[in-house]
Amino acid sequence: MKCSDEFSALKHSLMNTLQRNNGKEFMPVTRNTKNVPYYLLGFGAFASLGGMVDARRGRESGGALFYLDRFFRDAKLSLPARAGDKVVFVDTSSEPTVENIDSLTGEAKAYFGTKAPCCVTGIGGGSVLDTAKAVANLLTNPGRAEDYQGWELVKNPAVYKIGVPTLAGTGAECSRTCVLLNRKRGLKLGMNSDFTVYDQILLDPELTRSAPCDQFFFTGTDTFMHCFESLRGSYRNIIVDRLSETAVGLCRDIFLGPDDMKADGNLENMMVASYLGGMAAGNTGVVHPVSAALSTVLHLPHGKANCYALSALGDFYPEERALLMEMKAKNKIDMPEGICRNLPDDRYEALYQAGIIHENPLSNALGPEYKEILSRDRLVSIFKAM
Ligand code: ZN
Repeated sequence: MKCSDEFSALKHSLMNTLQRNNGKEFMPVTRNTKNVPYYLLGFGAFASLGGMVDARRGRESGGALFYLDRFFRDAKLSLPARAGDKVVFVDTSSEPTVENIDSLTGEAKAYFGTKAPCCVTGIGGGSVLDTAKAVANLLTNPGRAEDYQGWELVKNPAVYKIGVPTLAGTGAECSRTCVLLNRKRGLKLGMNSDFTVYDQILLDPELTRSAPCDQFFFTGTDTFMHCFESLRGSYRNIIVDRLSETAVGLCRDIFLGPDDMKADGNLENMMVASYLGGMAAGNTGVVHPVSAALSTVLHLPHGKANCYALSALGDFYPEERALLMEMKAKNKIDMPEGICRNLPDDRYEALYQAGIIHENPLSNALGPEYKEILSRDRLVSIFKAM
């Protein structure tokens, strides 16, 4: 079922109930929305992780399960792990795939046996946060990761989970999805479910300080993309609009303001923008489908793929493209041109297919006739312009 169909079905059933109840018409303005129930924001917040994990430990459950970006294998990060816990360093050189998730889930089940872990903690950028969410879902739901790629397919509540972003911008810390590549089916799609939402997040801006500048920029501008695409689409609601406007404003301050993008105030603002943008994310536009094609076919990381996508989408988003170019120049971010030039024909076909498959965002941005507006020739010429 498409998001819009699902929403009109929900609206219809809510209206019926309320009309029966008091004869008055009820017009929902939003879906019934779940957010992260607990968040803690501030420099040094990471020190609270031990207490939060310990509060979950008990006789009935196994030890704690931690997923960390492999970057932290060498970096100093004092992890509150004890005997019986499992610490896994996640390779983030490419985005999480359904195969990775199945194998990590298998390893966790083998380690913890019949007792599920007391909690799953993800510490890292969007890929690690999404990995922890996906495994937590699969520990309590049978089958494989690809069985749950879609909307409302997860049936049982996941293992309790804590998210600690070390890069800000994807909104993975508060979104209700975990994006997974499925190369066999040529798609990039998450487990969209209320069960995917973290139970607790720790937002410590200090953890983002060591990120390389280009990674900080590409991840941070993901928030800008989610939010402006939402504001420029047709599937809107007033709360998402206000969140998105605030997040876009913060991104302008961070990437175009007088201070260095990694000044203390900006590290904190970026955490806030990512959090607000994550709550608003869901209804993207043309940038994310084009970006997803670049990730699926050419294995480009998400944030960088977004920037390449928008750099070639000036016809659709002229003002936002100009803003991005200004942000890129001010922060001296290098994006060599020509990444999709002179590819064999079958690569262009694969890029087209991996982009046009994203019906929801494309119809949000362009309407139901999106395939006519974004013809194969036009989409291929967009890739060639990058
Ligand atoms: Zn994104």
